Amino acid sequence: MSFFSTRGGTCVTASQAILRGLAPDGGLFVPAMFHVVSPSEIAALGDLPYAQRAARILGLYLEDFTPEEIQSSVTAAYGQDRFDDPAVAPLKSLDSSTYVLELFHGPTLAFKDMALQLLPHLTTLSARKNGEQREVSILVATSGDTGKAALEGFRDVPGTSCTVFYPLDGVSDVQRLQMVTTGGDNTHVIAVKGNFDDAQTGVKELFGSESFAEEMNRRGKVLSSANSINFGRLVPQVVYYFSAYADLVSRRVIRCGDPVNFCVPTGNFGNILAAYYAREMGLPVGKLICASNRNKVLTDFFASGLYSTHRIFFKTMSPSMDILVSSNLERLLFEAADRDGELVSTWMRLLKECGSYSVGDQRTEWLQSLFWGGCADDNATLAEIGLRYTQDHYLMDTHTAVASNVLRQYREKSGDATPTVLVSTASPYKFARDVLSGVAGAETAQGLDAFACSAKLESLTGVPMPAQVRNLGNLPIRHRRECDIADMGQAVLSEFD
Ligand SMILES: *Cc1c(COP(=O)(O)O)cnc(C)c1O
Repeated sequence: MSFFSTRGGTCVTASQAILRGLAPDGGLFVPAMFHVVSPSEIAALGDLPYAQRAARILGLYLEDFTPEEIQSSVTAAYGQDRFDDPAVAPLKSLDSSTYVLELFHGPTLAFKDMALQLLPHLTTLSARKNGEQREVSILVATSGDTGKAALEGFRDVPGTSCTVFYPLDGVSDVQRLQMVTTGGDNTHVIAVKGNFDDAQTGVKELFGSESFAEEMNRRGKVLSSANSINFGRLVPQVVYYFSAYADLVSRRVIRCGDPVNFCVPTGNFGNILAAYYAREMGLPVGKLICASNRNKVLTDFFASGLYSTHRIFFKTMSPSMDILVSSNLERLLFEAADRDGELVSTWMRLLKECGSYSVGDQRTEWLQSLFWGGCADDNATLAEIGLRYTQDHYLMDTHTAVASNVLRQYREKSGDATPTVLVSTASPYKFARDVLSGVAGAETAQGLDAFACSAKLESLTGVPMPAQVRNLGNLPIRHRRECDIADMGQAVLSEFD
């Protein structure tokens, strides 16, 4: 097995793809082929604990890792000390044809833990395999949840450090506090005076800068990425789509082979791309429903084939989806282009230089056969939280509520009654103020800080507040650095001087 860049060329091993993060030509690493998992193998996953489900899927792609290395990694990543639900990614029934896949039972209460609890193990193994002596310095741009998950994953992991950039005014109180209170001797957190796209573009530029690499090298460090552009983030995410399907088969909701739809709250397109990869690997997937908030660049793309960033950037109550440039879409484009790296390069150049590109009618039709895009604004999000709570007695976070609302729209428009898995990406307590407003009206949350909102939400609903949120107010602030967009490289270097 080897990995190509979405922009052509480069053939590397899995460990090299994980270590480098981004291909030298600026493209994303993609597997040379998709391994097919047979229906009987899929059904058999249902008898295994989550860590072993992960080992099966990871083993298909991590060609240059031994089975023992994969075993030790999944055992450490998905243990009971890390996830507060024995199923790791439990599947709950919401209504007669809807199931919620809860991906927020890890240490930082968002789905990013599913991959970032594992990635540090893969990274240090990859460094060893490739004779890398330097410290592996992880650089992350975060819209809120990746940052904390990466910090927790890499905290005090020998031979690594982790630096996170977050948009100064673009994350929730809980998200910010989670990050700036992070312990560990190898963690760094910097607020950027800009939005997430600014932070992400800045980090991408640092990855492409030879002079920055040289400065880091002089300090004994080599850059790597924990953003979802890293293939090491993607493959652990493929696992839970298989896992959810196997659970539905075990519970006799479906027979193995029956189609299931997945509805995914989407920002950088990493999560839903993993569902598409699962489909390519033989998972019987019907429609992939791509849910956006008011920043509906993907909704428009799936409707028209035109990807355009010529639009206003909105801050919403689902901040982890406030994104105009969805990096992982490039991996889907690579497939839409029949793996023509030059064509992908052209689209990416147009995006950079003109802010838009169009994939043409035929490819748009192909994309529409797989995906359906929809969006929900903040009002619809709040209403959805209230509706799900009163009708189905289920408390969901703002991101999940966007997806839930979009699923409703999809069913109304299409009449499609296929059983659907709604992917839940965060604990409601990570966004307690807005969730409380959705459940009990905005007046209820007025004048309360994030902690009081959480306490109120707990007393109103009886859904237990996670300890991570309860303890947050007692932790000292350890990271205070801020920087301008243009000074991100300097800010990293001064953390190390
Ligand atoms: C990151 C995140 C998303 C978006 O996921 P992508 O893989 O970037 O599409 C959605 N919801 C939450 C809570 C997140 O943290």
